[in-house]
Amino acid sequence: MNKPMFDRVAILGIGLIGSSIAHAMRRGHVAREIVGHAHRAETLKRARKLGFADRLTDNAAAAVKGADLVILAAPVGVFGALAKAIAPHLKSGAIVSDVGSVKGAVIADVSPHIPRGVHFVPAHPIAGTERSGPDAGFAELFDGRWCILTPLKGANKRAISTVKTFWERLGSRVDVMDAKHHDLVLAVTSHVPHLIAYNIVGTADDLSTVTQGEVIKYSAGGFRDFTRIAASDPTMWRDVFLNNKDAVLEVLGRFSEDLSALQRQIRWSDGDALHKLFARTRAIRRGIVDAGQDSAEVNFGRNVTVKKSASRAAPRLSRVRRRR
Ligand code: NAP
Repeated sequence: MNKPMFDRVAILGIGLIGSSIAHAMRRGHVAREIVGHAHRAETLKRARKLGFADRLTDNAAAAVKGADLVILAAPVGVFGALAKAIAPHLKSGAIVSDVGSVKGAVIADVSPHIPRGVHFVPAHPIAGTERSGPDAGFAELFDGRWCILTPLKGANKRAISTVKTFWERLGSRVDVMDAKHHDLVLAVTSHVPHLIAYNIVGTADDLSTVTQGEVIKYSAGGFRDFTRIAASDPTMWRDVFLNNKDAVLEVLGRFSEDLSALQRQIRWSDGDALHKLFARTRAIRRGIVDAGQDSAEVNFGRNVTVKKSASRAAPRLSRVRRRR
């Protein structure tokens, strides 16, 4: 059995990512004590039942008292306020880290509050699902996935190395990069794809008043996969877009130009150009599977059985939605 790295770790935010960290820490015997913090009573009650933390509290300051490692795992929009609230209560020599999906804005919001003698090492695990809340977490979430560290210039080398080992003990592979580069890379690989999913599902929802629910009834692989992504937590993703504006807008500009080019190719029946692009993108998919970042199984390894009653009772999208 591995020796614990820490006596006490505090996790502020115990949804999908925070609770998965707790589960993975338990599995790897990473800490002697795990303290969890959330602000809603029902989240704390649920977490108590699930039992992934040794102690739970609605008080962030109390949660970090005596902790060797503090992880911010709430939506990025509240990191600044959380850092301010916990700052006077952090133990000297403690490490503060986070799991935020954007790094530039998080560093700007959090680092001014970090007291002298406490080390801040920003991190982002590239792992997730479309589910949220404490029930969504599981110990294997980070296995074989990358975690990116974006340390500030002049950061304590020992603290960086500790956070690296921490993520390796949770099952991750670790990379280090500059925060600005991280935000651009993630805008391309994660943020803009989510925006496209939210947009296409929204468009289909609007069209469903015309198509009488056929959008859901006949949703084949393409649309269905977009709906999975578009089911991701609204608060988390609102905060991602509000905190990574520059990179997202830059990538969106490029995306719109490429989309216009595709529009032209379809209009002028330029089959060669379309085929060339689709062949290139198919090779990228193969590369992702070869790198072990997804399954090569048909239908992403999903069970393909569709319940008869479910297909018959396909609801109209407009009936189940809330108007924007
Ligand atoms: P989540 O499942 O919605 O959980 C969010 C947690 O934060 C909940 O426990 C929530 O508690 C808590 N919280 C919300 N506002 C708070 C506040 N003001 N003070 C203290 N706690 C608060 O979200 P998640 O998917 O785990 O995402 C958490 C972080 O991980 C985000 O920063 C996100 O960018 C990052 N991340 C997410 C993914 C992903 O795929 N989901 C992947 C990598 C990184 P209550 O229930 O009490 O509100």
